[in-house]
Amino acid sequence: MNGPRALIVLAVIAIIIVVVAAGVALPMLLRNEGETDHVGEMRVFFLDVDQGDAILIQTPDGKNIMVDCGYVDYASEVIEFLRGHDVQVIDAFIATHPDPDHIGSVPTLFDEFRVLSVYHSGFVKTTQTYENFIAAIEAEDCPIYDDNDIDAGDLLPLSSNVTFEVLSIDSTAEDSNDASIVLKVTHGDVDLILEGDASWSTELDMVERFGEELDVEVLKVSHHGSSSASSYDWLDATSPETAIVCIGPNDWGLPAQSIMDRLETYAGEVYTTDGEGGILVLSNGLSCTATGLA
Ligand SMILES: [Zn+2]
Repeated sequence: MNGPRALIVLAVIAIIIVVVAAGVALPMLLRNEGETDHVGEMRVFFLDVDQGDAILIQTPDGKNIMVDCGYVDYASEVIEFLRGHDVQVIDAFIATHPDPDHIGSVPTLFDEFRVLSVYHSGFVKTTQTYENFIAAIEAEDCPIYDDNDIDAGDLLPLSSNVTFEVLSIDSTAEDSNDASIVLKVTHGDVDLILEGDASWSTELDMVERFGEELDVEVLKVSHHGSSSASSYDWLDATSPETAIVCIGPNDWGLPAQSIMDRLETYAGEVYTTDGEGGILVLSNGLSCTATGLA
């Protein structure tokens, strides 16, 4: 073998070496840049937006999923937090229900970030906050799903390695709190329930329907620790290692002391977002830890 044929063989060998080397080096480079340094980890941030919910879920496959975003007055804080945590695009925004402490920041947030999909309860309110919310999500020109498209028991296709199961949604509920999208988020062996503001009657429906499936590591307690929720049956079924109450100064006496006492009995640890400056739940798929962000 000589001449042009030898050169072609050498060139093919050289190309193979370069391709193999790049295949080894590229993932290492990506890891070193920190872009994928939480491969295998799920991060769930419960932001401190006083009496309101704003929850960011960062999945191992790089999806940023936002569940609620607090009162309008906290919009700039939420945006700053997302910017500080490498959020460029919100892959899905889930509005549990249309109350201002959950969706007030939507218009400002949607102005700032591209949002790729929206899920909401479909419960209609006659408030300016609700009208602003609908206008903002429709202006985003992305798929929008509500109670017409989703049922309890459905899995939302948001991530390849974290499942999002809808435990409750009811656009015809008697009040907006019971319309809440209740979500079970599962990463490997680690389960969280995000309860929105659902009341005890919705809790009992879920206990009857899902039973032992409700046993979780982390519970985002309903309705800022109100006595309208966190029933004994619900806490018995969920038996969380960690309970998180999203709370701050408010005019309604929340959280109820009776509920905080009950959580101390049923949950391993109880955190409040205002007490810790927000909470990070970090899961490696086998177990999880909860730490304050302050
Ligand atoms: Zn609320």
